Formats: sequence, C-alpha cells, structure tokens
Amino acid sequence: MKSLSRAFTAVAAALLLAACASPPTSAPTRTPATATAQAPADAVQAPTTAVRPPRIDRSYTAQSQDSRALYIVLHYTADNWEKSLKELTTGPVSAHYLVRDDPVASYALVDENRRAWHAGASFWAGNTNLNSASIGIEIVNRGYTKTPNGLVYAPFPQAQIDEVIALVRDIQQRHNVKPERIIGHADIAPGRKQDPGPTFPWKQFADAGLIPWPDGPLVMVKMLEHEVAPRDMAWLQERLARIGYNVSRSGQMDTLTREVVATFQMKYRPRDISGAVDAETAALIEVASTPSAMRVSGVTDTETRPYTSRW
Ligand SMILES: [Zn+2]
Repeated sequence: MKSLSRAFTAVAAALLLAACASPPTSAPTRTPATATAQAPADAVQAPTTAVRPPRIDRSYTAQSQDSRALYIVLHYTADNWEKSLKELTTGPVSAHYLVRDDPVASYALVDENRRAWHAGASFWAGNTNLNSASIGIEIVNRGYTKTPNGLVYAPFPQAQIDEVIALVRDIQQRHNVKPERIIGHADIAPGRKQDPGPTFPWKQFADAGLIPWPDGPLVMVKMLEHEVAPRDMAWLQERLARIGYNVSRSGQMDTLTREVVATFQMKYRPRDISGAVDAETAALIEVASTPSAMRVSGVTDTETRPYTSRW
C-alpha cells in the first residue's frame, strides 16, 4: 500500500510540474509521455475530451450533385463607388461581386462557396431565402431620384453592362445556372426592392444568350387578342405566379399585384412601369408564362430557339 501511495504521489507531482510548465490555456493539457508511462490506467484515459480528427477517404465521388448556386441575383447599389465599397465590405450587407462604374472592374468580395447577404426576404418560383442558393452581384449605380414627375432612374454606362454580361456568363457557365434563374432583386422582392431598375438593359442579356425573352411576333398576336378580350385578374395572378413571382391570389388589382406587374414591366417593357395592365403587358405576361413561347439565343449566334427548361 505504501509503495502504491508513493507512486501516486510521484505521478501527481509529475502532472503538476507538466501543467505548470505549459502556457495557460483552456484546451486539455496533454500528459507528457514520461509521466503517462508510470500512471495508472484511469489517469491515462482521463483526457477523453481530446478532439479526434475524422478519417476521410476521398477516393469516391457521387454523380448526383450540382452547385449550391442555383440563382444569380443582380442589384444596383444606389450609391457611388466609395460608399458602395464601404457598405459592402464593412456593413451588415454583402455581395459576391461588386461591379464598378468608372473605371469599370469587377471586385470579388465574398467567396462563391460562401453565403453573401444581399437578397433579404425573398421568393422565386417556390424558393425562399435566396441568399442560401444564389450568387449576388451589386452594380454601382445611383438608383432613382424623386422628382415632381416621379422617380427618375440613373442610366448604366455601356462598358459597365458589358462587364456585368461577361461576369454573369462566367458564373453561369461554371455553376450551370438555368437562364430563367438569372434575375433581379426586384423580381424576388417586388415592391420592397426596385433594383436593378428599369434602366437596366435586360434585353442585352437576352441577346447575349443569358436569359430567355418573349417571342416578339407572338406578343403582337396576343396583344390584339387582349385588346379585344381582356382577361380577368385571377388569370393574370395565376400567370405571374407561373413565371415565379410571389403574387397574391385575391382576384383583385391589389397593391402587391400592382407592384409585381410594375416589376415585370421594368424587365420586359421598361417604357411604362405604371403597374397598370394594358394589352401589351397582358400579352407579355401570357407569353412569358407559356412553355416554348419564350425564346433563347445562342451565345455565339443570334438565332433564337424555343425555351422550355423551366417547365
Ligand atoms: Zn438589391
């Protein structure tokens, strides 16, 4: 008994010395090998809280997988370059990319594999919380100013648009983002957000083969039909929902529906974004919600072909 007691005392002293020699830390202290050799079994087992790294074998890969980036969401910053950069690097919001206006350049602010905080409360085609599944691009642009004649939106320099097109194409190809999932902030938060606004030239993105666009001749035919026989609001709301918008189903022209129509007009008919449903707007909405009536052009040619992937 006496010899065992002495052994415990010696181990305790060794452990105490080892602990004193170590820098102060909250992490478990590893017992030196010289001390553990003489320690009783339960003393050796003691530091069970030590973190064991996993043994990961990466020899196999699953075929069924895709990118977490399902959407590309475009914004304007509503500010100049200096304030935009400061807000997006030090503020509570962020984006994966910031596209400067003068000189034109793209800045990567958040790694594409990580989440940026740009979308806020959002909805598109049944999906919510789009921050988790999108790559956000902020474009330096002043946004709108309020005038006696209403909101006046700042234009985008063509060189900046060319850069955004190149950036979107690069992201779209690497993550295989579907054309109908390249959208504006306003699309996923109608009424709450207006960006990138009616001066943003979505048609150029269609011409570049990045997004689908309504078939022009078909819109003309449908326009005549809607002039003769306008459809009711329930039909319109059902069609807007098919496109992807978070619209009410009230059967009435309510505030949200008017905002959704205005958002739709910003993209496809920016000349008049009042939110009122005229024959041209109704025709565009019908075509944009009909399989194969939207068309997409090739990246290298101007030929367009029916677009069906969303259905
Ligand atoms: Zn935005």
